[in-house]
Amino acid sequence: MNFEPSRNFAIKKLNNFIEKNLIEYSKLRNFDYGPNQRKNISCLSPYVSHGIISEKEIIDKSLKKYSFIKNEKFIQEVLWRIYWKGWLELRPKVWSNYIEDLKKLKKNFKDNQNYLNAINGKTNIECFNYWVSELKNHNYLHNHARMWFASIWIFTLHLPWQLGAEFFMKHLFDGDSASNTLGWRWVAGVQTKGKNYVASEWNIKKFTNNRFNNIKLNENPIPVIDNRSYSIKNYSFINANLSNIKNLLIFENNLSFEQSDFNDRSFENIYFVFNGNETRQIKLDEKVLNFKRSLINNQIIDLNNKSLNCKMINIQDLKDMKENFLGLYPSVGENLDYINSNNLKNIFFLYRKIDQYSWKYCTKGFFNFKNYIPKIVKEFI
Ligand SMILES: Cc1cc2nc3c(=O)[nH]c(=O)nc-3n(C[C@H](O)[C@H](O)[C@H](O)COP(=O)(O)OP(=O)(O)OC[C@H]3O[C@@H](n4cnc5c(N)ncnc54)[C@H](O)[C@@H]3O)c2cc1C
Repeated sequence: MNFEPSRNFAIKKLNNFIEKNLIEYSKLRNFDYGPNQRKNISCLSPYVSHGIISEKEIIDKSLKKYSFIKNEKFIQEVLWRIYWKGWLELRPKVWSNYIEDLKKLKKNFKDNQNYLNAINGKTNIECFNYWVSELKNHNYLHNHARMWFASIWIFTLHLPWQLGAEFFMKHLFDGDSASNTLGWRWVAGVQTKGKNYVASEWNIKKFTNNRFNNIKLNENPIPVIDNRSYSIKNYSFINANLSNIKNLLIFENNLSFEQSDFNDRSFENIYFVFNGNETRQIKLDEKVLNFKRSLINNQIIDLNNKSLNCKMINIQDLKDMKENFLGLYPSVGENLDYINSNNLKNIFFLYRKIDQYSWKYCTKGFFNFKNYIPKIVKEFI
C-alpha cells in the first residue's frame, strides 16, 4: 500500500478505482484481504480527509461511470464523512469533553501494562497485534479492521475508548477529529446510546478470508455508559463577506485551493498553515506529520507554478500576524482549538457550500441523514 502525498497520485487512484473496482464495491467492501490487496476499496481517505480531493469530485466521477442506484452504497460511504463532521459541528462539546477525558486518562494509564501491551502489539490476540503493526507501518487500516480493533480494545482488553482513539489519530494518515472520535464512540455504544459494536470470531475469520485463527474475544459485552447528553448548539455557518481581505489561510483539511468554492477569488497571499506537535493535544507520529508537510509542499509547488503567491507557515505564527485573514473553515478539531484558545479574532471563516447545505441534516442519526442524500447529490453534482 502506497500513499504518495500528491493530488496527481490521488486522482490516478480515484480514476483507477472507478474504472476497475467500483462495480464490485458494495459486494466486496467489507473484506479485509490485507495491506497488499486493497483493490476492493478506494483507499482515498488520506486524500479526502486533507481536502486534496473532495467528496463532490469523487461522487461526480462515480456518477459519470454508473447510475445513482448502482453507486448508492459508495456515495453513502463518501458522505459519511460530511455527516460525522456536521454532527460534531452541531455538538462541539463532544470534542472538548473527549480532549479533557483524554488528558486525565493518559496520566492514569501511562504505566498500565495492559495499555502498553496493546499499543506495542503484545497482547495474546494475534489479529489485534497484527493490526497494531499494520497501523504503524502503513498508517492505514481497513474500515472493518478499525471496527474490530476498537471493539477488542474496549470490550476484550477493557481499555478506555478515548485512548484507542488517540492511538488511531497518532498513526492514521487520514486521522480526522470527527470520523475518528465518533467512530470510536459508535463502537463503544455511546454515540448511539446502548448500541455497541461487538467484534466476533466468525465475522473476523470470514471477512479476513481466514487469515487469523483461534480468536478468543469477549463476545457478550455491555455497552460503555456515558450519561452526558449533548444538545445541538445554535449554528450559523455563514461566510464572511469581506471582499477587501486579500489574505487566505488554508488549514490541513482543505488543502486543494483549486478545488475549493473560492478558487475564483483573487488573493494576494495564500498561507498553508502547518500544525506541529508543539501545538497539538494529540501528538502525531513523525510519518503522519511528514505526510501533511509533503501534501502542503506539493500544493504550494502547483500554485506557485500558476503564479499564485503562497507559502507554508506554522500555526504559531498566526499569533504575530496582525492583519485580517479569510480562512477555509478548519472544522472542530485541533486547528480550531488553537484559534479559539489564542483568541485570534482576525480570522474570518469561509465554509464549503456542500457543508453549509448538508450539516443541517446532521441533527439525528445517519439513517435519517441518508434520506437527504439524493437531495444533496442533486444540489451539488
Ligand atoms: C473506530 C473508527 C475510526 C475511524 N477513524 C477515521 C479517521 O480518523 N479518519 C477517516 O477518514 N475515517 C475514519 N474512519 C472511517 C473509515 O474507516 C475510513 O474512512 C475508511 O476506512 C477509509 O478507507 P477507504 O478510503 O478505502 O474507504 P472507502 O470504503 O473506499 O470509502 C470511500 C470514502 O468514503 C469515506 N468513508 C467511508 N467510510 C467512512 C466512515 N465510516 N466514516 C467517514 N467516512 C467514511 C472516506 O472518505 C473514504 O475515503 C474510522 C472508522 C472507525 C470504525
